[in-house]
Amino acid sequence: TPGLAERLAGKFTGGGKPVTVHALTDVSLEVTKGEVLGIVGESGCGKSTLGRVIAGIHAPSSGSVTLNGKPVADERRGNIHKLTTQVQMIHQDPFASLNPRMKVGETLAEGPRYHGIIPADQVRARIRALLEQVGLEGAYADRLPHQFSGGQRQRIAIARALAMEPEVLVLDEAVASLDVSIQAQVLNLFMDLRHDLGLTALFISHDLSVVRHVCDRVAIMYLGRLVELAPADQLYADPRHPYTRALFASIPTVGTGRGRFEAIKGEIPSPIAPPPGCAFHPRCPFAGPRCRAEVPRLTEAGAARTVACHLNDGGVEMQKGAA
Ligand code: SF4
Ligand code: MG
Repeated sequence: TPGLAERLAGKFTGGGKPVTVHALTDVSLEVTKGEVLGIVGESGCGKSTLGRVIAGIHAPSSGSVTLNGKPVADERRGNIHKLTTQVQMIHQDPFASLNPRMKVGETLAEGPRYHGIIPADQVRARIRALLEQVGLEGAYADRLPHQFSGGQRQRIAIARALAMEPEVLVLDEAVASLDVSIQAQVLNLFMDLRHDLGLTALFISHDLSVVRHVCDRVAIMYLGRLVELAPADQLYADPRHPYTRALFASIPTVGTGRGRFEAIKGEIPSPIAPPPGCAFHPRCPFAGPRCRAEVPRLTEAGAARTVACHLNDGGVEMQKGAA
């Protein structure tokens, strides 16, 4: 099945004088129908930008995003036209994205009505059915957003996206602002919907423990580049890139009695002036001279996985200082 492929570089204007920051460089991904791809990295790695580009909200300065062979956005005279309703985005803060003065049913009906996705005489019934599909009551259509909890609002945001009958969902830190127990409920809902509706999704998160439960494959990003791409089970069993390993090491382990936490050493460098060579080299315990001079390319590291690290060249085992 033709999927979603893109290769792009984002354009940004940073305070006062215009600068072009390549928020994303050489990112090339394909997502297969029915797949859930995780996009993981620290804040500022470009994962939200990637999500917005894929959803057609930002146009890349070079490269393209296509869905079933057709572009999702078109940029002319600096204006971005989103060309498809088939990619829908779900954001971190559901309250900010819901109009506080509009009844939830109206908010849900707006997009499908405008785009003629649901016949006018069926909108009301369909919205009620959608609310039930996300575990809410149909009668909630007549309530205002402030009458709902954070978890319920995120369910409403999911229902709003589904009302557009999308082929692809982009979830950007969709459960990050929720309590852990509510997170689990919303993730379970997402898993059920995914199976029932055959959804294709990009699941953007900084949280490897959340991603593990919902994704088939995971892409790890660092400073606007893809550094590792692997099936989720393989990535969790055997992370290859030193940055991926550092991310795993920084997860507090539960149940050990003392909770291990190792922060990744060093600051995330500015995307405006990324370090030369491998952008991770100032923080990498394995960095050698080649790492400071040459950008590592994504190379195969097994049947279905790729890694961008000089230590992976020729499948060499990682040893401190080997590069
Ligand atoms: Fe570390 Fe070098 Fe690999 Fe970059 S290329 S992750 S600096 S070993
Ligand atoms: Mg973000």
